Amino acid sequence: MPSALAPKTLASLTTWRVGGPIRRLVETSDPAVLSDEINGALDRGEPWTILGKGSNLLAADEGFPGTILRLQDDVRRIRISGHEIHAPAGLTNSLVVKAAMNGGLGHLAFLSSIPGSLGGAVFMNAGAHGLQTHEVLSRALVLMPGATPEWVPAEEMAFAYRHSILQQRQGIVLEVVLKGRPTSPDETRAEIQALAAWRRKRQPQEPSAGSVFRNPEGTSAGHLIESAGLKGLRIGDAMVSPMHANFIVNIGEATATDTNRLIATVMDRVEEVHGIRMHPEVRGLGLEVGCP
Ligand SMILES: Cc1cc2nc3c(=O)[nH]c(=O)nc-3n(C[C@H](O)[C@H](O)[C@H](O)COP(=O)(O)OP(=O)(O)OC[C@H]3O[C@@H](n4cnc5c(N)ncnc54)[C@H](O)[C@@H]3O)c2cc1C
Repeated sequence: MPSALAPKTLASLTTWRVGGPIRRLVETSDPAVLSDEINGALDRGEPWTILGKGSNLLAADEGFPGTILRLQDDVRRIRISGHEIHAPAGLTNSLVVKAAMNGGLGHLAFLSSIPGSLGGAVFMNAGAHGLQTHEVLSRALVLMPGATPEWVPAEEMAFAYRHSILQQRQGIVLEVVLKGRPTSPDETRAEIQALAAWRRKRQPQEPSAGSVFRNPEGTSAGHLIESAGLKGLRIGDAMVSPMHANFIVNIGEATATDTNRLIATVMDRVEEVHGIRMHPEVRGLGLEVGCP
């Protein structure tokens, strides 16, 4: 059964802990309910969106002016068959990778280190430690507005650096099939632990959305920001992390307005110093990132 929940704020559903009221939130894993909600929103002339675990989003202080859908998925639907793992897209990467590990499948540890849901990882083509989601994706079950869910092979998703076709055509990833490799659980466990330790050492622990900017061709956004002298720059409670310059951290009660102004300031300063215009990797919910 879907649940239309009592309104929470978007801050409670995003890792940046920023964002205002929720008008309508529906949590379900039923494609028919998702379709009805999308059609209802379109009929009312309102926007809709699908939210994963909110780990790559800057949500507006005013909230989102339409329907927010979230997948309410059940871990019991994870299934291993041969070298593949089938999983509902609303589950976290880390949970699914651990299930693969316990079933003797590895080569997916990088994904366990990326916060968020499988659906978000496919949408963003999330990547870390030399691998990207598209390299381990076999296919995804996608619901497009007005259609029935269809399996889309990875080759048809126009994957590129932090890009998938879903960024052009709004749809919902319902299920994902990942390709693993036979690996002993002990080996995968050690890999997962090593990656987690690597992150604890190099990434800030305050609320954030990970890397704010895409790496420009041939360089890293973190390097550009740091060498422009912007580490520690602060607007309100939004601050360029002194530990990792491509992270903006919420050190208390940061608002979306503070955060977005800081993002725009960093873009302008980096352009002044280096002549390179950076582009945000984080996405806006109810606002345009970099345009406060
Ligand atoms: C501490 C930290 C470290 C991070 N490190 C990395 C990293 O190493 N590499 C990396 O790539 N990212 C990283 N990120 C960013 C983030 O975790 C990824 O982009 C992640 O894949 C987003 O998943 P999500 O479920 O949280 O998506 P959300 O943030 O909820 O949504 C992001 C976008 O995906 C869409 N989406 C979500 N679910 C679905 C679905 N089921 N179907 C269709 N569209 C959907 C949303 O509509 C939205 O546009 C990091 C973030 C944090 C906080």
